[in-house]
Amino acid sequence: MAPCTRAQHKHTRADDDEEEKTCRLCLGGEEDGPLVQPCACRGTATWAHSHCLDHWRRTSPRQDAAYRCGQCMDEYRDALSLELLSARLQAERTRLLMAQCLFTTAPQVPPTLDTLARELMAQGKYGEAEPLFREALKVRRGTLGNRHPNTLKSMNNLATLLYAKKDLAAAEPLLYEALYVHLETLGNRHPTTLTSITNLGSLLKAKGNLVAAEQLLRRALKVKRETLSDRHPSTLTSIHSLGRLLKASGRLRAAEPLLREVLKVRRETLGSRHPHTLASVNHLGSLLKDKGDLVAAEPLLREALEVRRKTLGSRHPATLVSINSLRSFLEAKGKLQAAESLYREAQARRTLRGRQPSTLRCAMKTRARTVPR
Ligand SMILES: [Zn+2]
Ligand SMILES: [Zn+2]
Repeated sequence: MAPCTRAQHKHTRADDDEEEKTCRLCLGGEEDGPLVQPCACRGTATWAHSHCLDHWRRTSPRQDAAYRCGQCMDEYRDALSLELLSARLQAERTRLLMAQCLFTTAPQVPPTLDTLARELMAQGKYGEAEPLFREALKVRRGTLGNRHPNTLKSMNNLATLLYAKKDLAAAEPLLYEALYVHLETLGNRHPTTLTSITNLGSLLKAKGNLVAAEQLLRRALKVKRETLSDRHPSTLTSIHSLGRLLKASGRLRAAEPLLREVLKVRRETLGSRHPHTLASVNHLGSLLKDKGDLVAAEPLLREALEVRRKTLGSRHPATLVSINSLRSFLEAKGKLQAAESLYREAQARRTLRGRQPSTLRCAMKTRARTVPR
């Protein structure tokens, strides 16, 4: 039994409020226990009992059931994800060790190593993720060589983590190494090379080298427009990154058409409730606020926050970004009391979550999850 079906995703906003709440797994109601919204699935798949979902995650034959919804691909990002992936990694390590003792095969990386490391990273547990990424890279360098695609993926994973830890000096040589090998082996127009170029561009931007970063991002975007089309998700990611870079360097006029282009295509292709669309809505709203166009900025910032609260919940980092964007807008508008209440909410969430990821980390995290992109 799957957690929900594709048909169940079709719904209107009114459904969320009017439908009687039932568990999508056992079809029982609140009398059987508290119902939670575990992911972005909506309609009749909105609700589940915690105990039903836990049971599903512990027993499902699906490889990914432990840490994400199989329909909307939303990750649960909780302690149970780490518990189940850690147990799986332990079992894989034992299996590999037994096989090596019996057959003396070459060392291998357990398949769950990367998944668990990425999950730890996504939950802000950088210290626990780093040795796992380092182990994977070391084993792959030793067994596959320095130019194998999986070795390069490991380099990128580790670089992404170091980048998130703000250890840019340690991340930089890994990104350069990966880019050189991609250029030599795949050429300068291959999608994976373009991802490598974009990642290095993001790093240079974080280091404050905006001129070099812009050259790299423009280079990658030009080739993506030529080879993938203007509406391809990867092209949109590049346009979005370039728009943010121009915004960061104060060139708001040049950034605006780029952010508008991405938002338009994402609304058309992903819908208005998709996390990527909402990131675009929020960025365009912030840009218009910075330009002083408060009338145009307000509906966008309010839309981003409202839909993120509904689809991701009030504790999600992206919702927190929206809370802060709207707060800063209200301050600019002189509505200090409303801004103050959002400020207090953001502070409370920060205390609840402990360590807050930066927006840069989110940008790299998305990229790392689907190398190449
Ligand atoms: Zn249930
Ligand atoms: Zn779902």
